Amino acid sequence: MDKKKEKKMDDKTSPPTMYKNIGAPLLFIIIVPIILFYILKKSTTVSQNIFPNWTSIVVLLVFLLWGYGSLRLFPQNFEGPKNVDGSIPKYQGNGFRFWIASMIVVVLVCLKWKKVPEMVTTNFIPIMMTFNIFGLLFVGYLYFAGRKEYWGKEEDDKKGYSTLFRFYRGLEFHPRIGGVDIKQLTNCRFGMIFWQVIIIIFAFFSYYSGGVNIAMWVTVVLQTIYIAKFFWWETGYFNTLDITLDRAGYYICWGCLVFLPAFYTFTCYYLANNPSIISGFMGVVILLLGCWFIWMNYKVDKEKEDFKANPDCKIWGKKAAFLNCDFKEEGKKPSKLLVSGWWGKSRHMNYTYEIGLSGCWSAVGAPLGIAPFAYLGYIIALLVHRIYRDEDKCRVKYGKYWDEYCKRVPARLIPGIF
Ligand code: NDP
Repeated sequence: MDKKKEKKMDDKTSPPTMYKNIGAPLLFIIIVPIILFYILKKSTTVSQNIFPNWTSIVVLLVFLLWGYGSLRLFPQNFEGPKNVDGSIPKYQGNGFRFWIASMIVVVLVCLKWKKVPEMVTTNFIPIMMTFNIFGLLFVGYLYFAGRKEYWGKEEDDKKGYSTLFRFYRGLEFHPRIGGVDIKQLTNCRFGMIFWQVIIIIFAFFSYYSGGVNIAMWVTVVLQTIYIAKFFWWETGYFNTLDITLDRAGYYICWGCLVFLPAFYTFTCYYLANNPSIISGFMGVVILLLGCWFIWMNYKVDKEKEDFKANPDCKIWGKKAAFLNCDFKEEGKKPSKLLVSGWWGKSRHMNYTYEIGLSGCWSAVGAPLGIAPFAYLGYIIALLVHRIYRDEDKCRVKYGKYWDEYCKRVPARLIPGIF
């Protein structure tokens, strides 16, 4: 066994390091919010408000009820993949209709009540503060509700995971409150839809205060296509790491209740506060390039989806090639790894195009310096980290076949570079 693999096995059996048990949770629970609010405050030119107020509380309640209602008022009969704990979570599959309804409502509200975009934009920091307080209380509740009994508790106790780490990572995979799946509520029906609604509000604010701003509209259109695509595919999201690997704790739930609303929206927030001037020609070039990245990202995801549905499908005009993981020695259910199309070029070409897209929607702010590129820096770090998390998962699931796939497709992100 080589040294690297030996170390990996040690990591699985030895107690967690101080960094994992205490350092990382503290970093994310204390330092990240401080940096986040510092950046929001530094970037605003239209608001002096910081602390929660009635507007921010109303916004929180409206979004919570809107998202909760979209799940609770309809039968939840979409079954997600079976979890490691043996449960089969149930979801609501009306994501795209929910997105359309939300878009219609926000546009009508902004057209009818012209003060709303100003009220929300100038209170954005109090809104985020309120989300933060709510997010911490909510994750605290999840921790206390699950702490006595949850899947893998004995393993956690044996390894000596701290309370802080468990709060940060989460305990249960699929807790339900009020008859809905918590992660569908926090990730999709709160975080993702807030992102969509708030960028439309920022765009209206920018329009009412200074007329049409090409940079703002280009970035809003690109982000809107991206978010619409997410809701179109929402049921596919239930197969991803966020849902199958992450437990409902600070990392994913606070992330989607606070970090996503505050930071994924940052480019538009920055442009609403500091208008960027780009030419119509530049706007069209960035828009077209961004659309191309969205299309390519979709194509990569679609190739895998088609292959999973039918391994005999055609990719790039030829029958899909794959590694047959028969697991004869292990006695596990056989599986297949696609090596055709984009999945034969790099192991995460979808992330490469996602990064390209984020580069485009940030580039509209280039005349203002590097601040509008903050999200781009973040998404690169997030996706690179995610590649390693996903590889750990795949190595456990596919064993030697994963190593074979890595040999056959050595690039993680960009062929020939990384
Ligand atoms: P992927 O769609 O890349 O899915 C990874 C999984 O696919 C693996 O765990 C494995 O799961 C399976 N797989 C990997 N390689 C192969 C192969 N060669 N053949 C067959 N199956 C394979 O990752 P994500 O779920 O993270 O991303 C989905 C989309 O969401 C992407 O478009 C991504 O860009 C986007 N995204 C956006 C984020 C954001 O914050 N903006 C964050 C994360 C993702 P299995 O066990 O099923 O085989």
